[in-house]
Parts: sequence; C-alpha cells; structure tokens
Amino acid sequence: MKQVTDYFGSLVFDDKVMKSKLSSDVYKKLKKTIQDGEELDISVANSVAQAMKDWAIELGATHFTHWFQPMTGVTAEKHDSFISPAGDDRVIMEFKGKELVKGEPDASSFPSGGLRATCEARGYTAWDPTSYAFIKDKVLCIPTAFCSYSGEALDKKTPLLRSMQAINKQAMRVLKLFGNENVTSIKTTVGPEQEYFLVDKDVYLKRPDLIYTGRTLFGAMPPKGQELEDHYFGVIKPRVQDFMNDLNEELWKLGILGKTEHNEVAPAQHELAPIFSTTNIAADHNQLTMEIMQKVAKKHNMVCLLHEKPFKGVNGSGKHNNWSISTNTGINLLEPGDTPSENAQFLLFLVAVIKAVDEYQDLLRISVASAGNDFRLGANEAPPAIISMFIGSELQEVLDSIETGKPIKSKGKSFLKIGADVLPDLPKDTTDRNRTSPFAFTGNKFEFRAVGSSESISCANIMLNTAVAEELKKFADILEKSDNFDNDLHALIKNTIIEHKRIIFNGNGYDDAWIKEAEERGLLNLKSTPEALPYYLNKKNVDLFTSHSIYTVNEINARYEIAQEHYAKVVNIEALTALDMVNKYYLPAISKFSNFLIGSIANKKSIGLNAEYETNTASILADASNKIYEIKRELEKSLVEKDKITDCAKLSTYLKDNVLTKMEALRTVIDEIELIVDKDYWPFVSYGDLLYSVK
Ligand code: ADP
Ligand code: MG
Repeated sequence: MKQVTDYFGSLVFDDKVMKSKLSSDVYKKLKKTIQDGEELDISVANSVAQAMKDWAIELGATHFTHWFQPMTGVTAEKHDSFISPAGDDRVIMEFKGKELVKGEPDASSFPSGGLRATCEARGYTAWDPTSYAFIKDKVLCIPTAFCSYSGEALDKKTPLLRSMQAINKQAMRVLKLFGNENVTSIKTTVGPEQEYFLVDKDVYLKRPDLIYTGRTLFGAMPPKGQELEDHYFGVIKPRVQDFMNDLNEELWKLGILGKTEHNEVAPAQHELAPIFSTTNIAADHNQLTMEIMQKVAKKHNMVCLLHEKPFKGVNGSGKHNNWSISTNTGINLLEPGDTPSENAQFLLFLVAVIKAVDEYQDLLRISVASAGNDFRLGANEAPPAIISMFIGSELQEVLDSIETGKPIKSKGKSFLKIGADVLPDLPKDTTDRNRTSPFAFTGNKFEFRAVGSSESISCANIMLNTAVAEELKKFADILEKSDNFDNDLHALIKNTIIEHKRIIFNGNGYDDAWIKEAEERGLLNLKSTPEALPYYLNKKNVDLFTSHSIYTVNEINARYEIAQEHYAKVVNIEALTALDMVNKYYLPAISKFSNFLIGSIANKKSIGLNAEYETNTASILADASNKIYEIKRELEKSLVEKDKITDCAKLSTYLKDNVLTKMEALRTVIDEIELIVDKDYWPFVSYGDLLYSVK
C-alpha cells in the first residue's frame, strides 16, 4: 500500500527538495527571496533552474511552463521543452535562470481591458517564488505573475500579492503599537471550501446547454429534488468515492492539503475543503484543485460541473472563503487571546474588519459578481446579495457592552475597559453558526460565503486584504500619535462599533424582512452583476486601490471593462445556445409529438372512440408552441438590438433586463410542457437523468 506520507508533495519543488538539491549558499539566498522578497541574482537563479530541471527530469518531465492566471479566470500555460541542440544531431536538456525568473508569452489574446494594444501584445510572466514549482502532466510548472510590458497587471495574482503586502505593512504598524517585538510579518490565510456537481459523462454529452454554458438552460424538476435532505452528508456512492480517492491522491502529490469531503445538499452535489494556507498559495491551489477535479472526473467517465447554478430548483455551488490573519510567529490575529492586551489587540483587528466590510460592501459584492453567481445570491440557498456580517451572540454581547458601558448580561460582569479586562470565553466554531450570512465570524476566522464555485478566489481576497489594510492604516495613524494609548484605543474601538454596527446582522438572511431592514439601515442591495460593477469606479474605491498601490487607475478601468465584457459574452453565449435548442430541437420535437397525437385523434375517431387525452394535449402543445415561437422571436430581436449598444454598462443592463428575462420566459413554457410530452419525443435528457446519472 502506498502511504500518503510518502507521496505527499512528491511532485513539488518544496523546501525539503530545495534543501537537498541546492548548495547551502544558494538555498539561503533563495529563502531570503521567498521570505523577504529580495531580488534573486542571476547566478543564483541559474543554480536553482538547473536543480529544478534535474529534479523534474528525474520525475519524467520533458517541458516547463510559466503557469499564470490571466483575467479569463482559468489558468494559462505554454509549454517549452527543455531540449536544446548540442551538435551531432544530439540534444541536451537545458533550463536557464532567466527562463525561470521571466517569460515572454505572446499574450495578445488574453483579456486586457484595453491595457495593451494588440500590436504591442507582449506581456511578461515573472516567477512568484513564494509559491512552489510543481510537475503536472510531465510539465514543470512555475507559478508566475503576468504583466504588460509597462508593468500593468494582466492577471489575478499580481494584485493579490500587492494586497498581501499592503495588509502586511499596515498590520505591522498596529502590531508594533501593542509591543509585538518578535513579529516581523503577517500573512492572510485562506481555506476555500469548494462545491461541485458530478454527472455521468454520457448523459452530460446529451445536453448542449451544459456543454456550451456549464449550466442547464431548460429542464423541469424531477419528482424528487433535495426536499428530503437525504443527500447532505449522506453515504457517498462507490463511484463518487473512487473519484474522491483518485482526486485526493492527485492533490496530495501536488502538496495540496485536501482534507474534508462530503455530499452536499443537492443530489449529485459534493464538497471538498482543504486545510487553509497562505492566501496566494491557497489561490494557486484552488485553481489547480478545480482543474484536477475536472480531469479526474473525466477518467471516471463523469463530468465535474463547477458552475454556480447548473440546475434550477436545487442548490447551486459556492466557495466559502475562510479568511484570517496570521503572524510569522504563528499567532492568529482573529483569535481572542488570554490576556487583556491580547484581547484589546483582537478587538482592534475585529473592528477593523467590521469597518472594512461596511465601508467597502460594494467591493466585496463586486468581487463575487458574475453571471453565474447572480442565480445563487439571494435565492435562499446562498447568502443574499446584501453584504452583512454575522458575529454571533457572545461577541455581540461584548461589543454591546463596550458600546453602552453596561455589563454583559449572561456573564454578570461588565467588559468596560479595553486593555484591562479579559474577554469572557468565546466559543470557537459554535454549532449555531448562521448559515445565511454572507460574512460570518466563526470563532477565529471570517467565512465569506458569497464567492461563486467557479470563480478564482483572488478577487475576493484582494478586496478583503485591501479594505482591511485601509482601516488598519487609519487606526495606526490615530494610535501612533496617541499619548494615552489605552484611552484612545478604547475610544477608537467604541466609536468604530457605533459607526459601523449597521453592517452586523445576526438574524436570518433569507428572511424577506431582512431586505427591508437592510434598506432602512442604508446597506447596499446590488442584486445583479450589472448593478454591482459600476461601483468599481467610485472615487472612494479608486482612492483605496491607488493609495495602497494595488491598482493604477488604468488597471481599475481595465478590470471593470473586462468584468462587463465577460458578463455580456456569457449571456450572449447562453442566449444563442437557448435559441439553438429551441429552433433545432424543442419546436420540431413538439411539432412531431403533436402530429403523432393528431394522427391518433383521427384514428380513434374513425372507429368511434373518444380522444380526450390526445385532443387536450395537442391543444396545450399548440398554445405552448405558439408562445415559444413568439418569445424566441422577441429574443432574437433583442439580440439584434443589443449590437447597437456600445456602452458596456448599458449593454450588460440591457442583457439582464431584456435577454435573460426572455430566456427565463422561454424556459418556463418549455419546462411546463416537458412534463406532458412523451419522453421518446423529448430531445434532451431530463433533470432526473442528469441529477441521478451517477449510480
Ligand atoms: P464548515 O463547512 O463547517 O464551514 P470546514 O471544516 O469544511 O467547515 O471548512 C473550514 C475551512 O476553514 C477549512 O478549509 C479550514 O482549513 C479553514 N480555516 C480554519 N482556520 C483558518 C484560518 N485561521 N484561516 C483561514 N482558514 C481557516
Ligand atoms: Mg463553510
């Protein structure tokens, strides 16, 4: 039996491998680069490249690639083999330091939001030495950031790394004030829980909507959906278990800490959660996890669906982004401590997050905005589109006590003096956690639950890191000037609670009453992507990003445009797919079945029989088919109209209001008659066939 401990990380050029393959001098210099971001000189890079290549070749690799995360949301790679001519028709295997640290892919076809004219298409990739190189399908993959020639970020990793630097800088200022002498850096940590669906590949291939769009555009609910709640945490089917075993093995070989696996709420839905890691590594690993899930599923003749809403009527898939801040000495800054000083520090970080989420609700909403996720948020299966925070009753009592100066009722004592009193024991990871909140405190971390299953986690963490960095900066600015630290700290925490408590909501986020209350509190309710995206360009947000050097103004504009364009493209593809299915399959199928019924009516009548079923059904089908024809013509017209709109914000709003709505209307009619048409005539496999395809 292969032991996990033997093969874990076997395809990763990790610290252990570096130590054994590099001279101690080179190893030390590389470590310095990894830890302190110091530049690597070329002779060191050459030695590292050589060692990496030898190690990779031993493990069967023939090629290398700079592995990066362009704005498409998926990863990109261009393979180059190690071979180099050596005369006499021979080749040697070569990999130089400069090939390790920098690449120049011809990158003209990646979305750049106008940052790069096609004629000056060159972009370059630069090694991110904090994320280990690894081998995937015989290719040595070097995690890199991707920039334009003039240094503008064209990817999701560069701003993520910048945001980690920003929060490090500001958190360190705050930590100094609390006398943390031995802390030299902080990092944000993330554990992304990944939800997904598995369907049989043969069944999947019978659904053009799944193939082209990743979601079903039509389909009536089968008699049984998720109402019995018997799938959640249920016994895992052997075929799915085999898939999970293979998946775990692949992930573990890549040093990805796959930990928890279980069935989710909807039939055919599952979840995988890793153990948390440093944010950029968690982001790399999550991208790899999604890729490997799809690959391993194919080996098992299944397809892994990562779309946020593959099926109407059952839950969609999200990606809970568990987030915290950790010092290089291993202290979790969102964990209440044991001493008055530790607790004061905890409370300051806590209110910094509260303030950040309140001030930058719009950015957090934007970070999870996509055409797919719009079907999930607010649909009573995922948090509403309103960003709010859950902190739980115990912590709420503490904040109330600080705000009002009144004792904590349940503990019979007050918590009045920050820096002098010890917090009452706060339960960690309590069971009464609120599942309906988009942003929940879970004892020692926050769980951002609005992220969509197919999205890169980078954007959510860029927003979070930067917003919290900004609040820590403001706090540090005040406290560094203070000559009565405890008093000023107390006032700062108290005032922050008073000013930002509107963002805290510990009740049921699925309740309609919350929508009304949130409005009264002045919280944003950005229901769709087109409604959310324009907030990107608000002055307050542009100031935030530019002042922390996360994005330049050009980069923000580019990202905004890319997001708008992406939305428009997705909806357009969906509309064309829907029309294709209607024109070539649904309408003809309904017609054929009607003909069959009409033939039957004539036959029955000729021998004096009553044809009530056939007559009524044919009549319903005639009405439906006329209705479908009418809506599809309107949809076609809207698609022509949309081409006249040049402004990207107007276009996405138009698509939401005029195209998605018509697609939904088409679907309603078609789904209704699916229930009464002979299965042999129906052109596509049903929801029942799909959701229960894996036996
Ligand atoms: P649940 O489904 O109840 O939310 P899970 O155990 O499935 O809980 O997921 C919790 C996730 O939170 C795991 O990925 C875990 O590693 C992660 N996590 C735990 N502590 C931290 C932390 N300090 N920072 C970031 N993520 C964390
Ligand atoms: Mg969770």
